[in-house]
Amino acid sequence: MVTGLAAYAVSERSSRGRHYPESPPAHRTEFQRDRDRIVHCTAFRRLEYKTQVFVNHEGDMFRTRLTHSLEVAQISRTVARALGLNEDLAEAIALAHDLGHTPFGHAGQEALDECMRANGGFEHNIQSLRVVDRLEERYAAFPGLNLTFETREGILKHVGRAKARMLGEVGRRFLDRTHASLEAQVTNIADEIAYNNHDIDDGLRSGLIDLGQLETLSIPAEQLAQVRREYPRLDTKRLTAEAIRRAVNAEVSDLVDESQRRIGARAPADVAAVRAAGVALIGFTETMRVRHDELKRFLRDNLYRHPRVRSMTERAALIVRALFAAYLADPAALPERVAVAGATAVQPPTLARQVADYVAGMTDRFAIAEYRRLIGPIDMN
Ligand code: MG
Repeated sequence: MVTGLAAYAVSERSSRGRHYPESPPAHRTEFQRDRDRIVHCTAFRRLEYKTQVFVNHEGDMFRTRLTHSLEVAQISRTVARALGLNEDLAEAIALAHDLGHTPFGHAGQEALDECMRANGGFEHNIQSLRVVDRLEERYAAFPGLNLTFETREGILKHVGRAKARMLGEVGRRFLDRTHASLEAQVTNIADEIAYNNHDIDDGLRSGLIDLGQLETLSIPAEQLAQVRREYPRLDTKRLTAEAIRRAVNAEVSDLVDESQRRIGARAPADVAAVRAAGVALIGFTETMRVRHDELKRFLRDNLYRHPRVRSMTERAALIVRALFAAYLADPAALPERVAVAGATAVQPPTLARQVADYVAGMTDRFAIAEYRRLIGPIDMN
């Protein structure tokens, strides 16, 4: 059904299919079907109330996991289409990539991982796969969303060898050091382009970073100077918005051009050749990669570790740890549905894993409400 795909793109014909066989969709591609199932699932809707950097109630203008995922999908589609890749697959992977995130972003994930240390740990990337493979309960014929192999594989961005061994075929590339499809490679970098730039935007709007700091970084400095030259009387709000817009565009253009060059040099005949290429065929030029990493480091040191973000982060970790301990000590506090799902599963998960699944699925505001209900008051301002 898909036309105009390059030989090295993932196609329906070359797809390794779904775990539970289904008849083909009538009016969509298999990857459109994956995308649609993701958009209709519960975990996707909850992304709206999950932290990206700023906790959800801190302001209505900041990115959430949902708007972040939409930005990743937009960038992924642009790059995929420009390179003759499977746009539907890239979009499906992008929309699903953060489904396993805990409430409160990375602070929540680190706290939950600590709680689960004796029980196999917790990793949001693997959790995203667990959500689409098992935790969503929407279809009569199978657990999870029964997505195609290619979408499921693309969701896994980085997995250690020990964990990859437990994932079966979908984790194989981390063991034999082959590469994922080009569509998955595109989505991974689109994720970074999106958060690097929108975190700068949110960081400025929150007042935690300022324009002066951006002048010291190569990508923003160059874009700001260019916009000022062309529009000398622009106010700060539009100046920064225009500079960030151009920065996204510059990164995307560099990515498309450099990836085109690498693909051209290797001329992979099909997806198998992409996987065996030995190097990632999707990537920035060396100059852009260095500049991109500079931005990443800046955000880590100045925004993610900012005292105000940190103080929220510490309370978030406290909430996650306390909820985990409370449900573990008193499973009766869990909703009945969670306990029933565990009891009837073919391989029942441990209580710790059930609690981790439940806590990970929470939105920021629900986790705060549960803390107040089960443990006590907490000031989140
Ligand atoms: Mg992301």
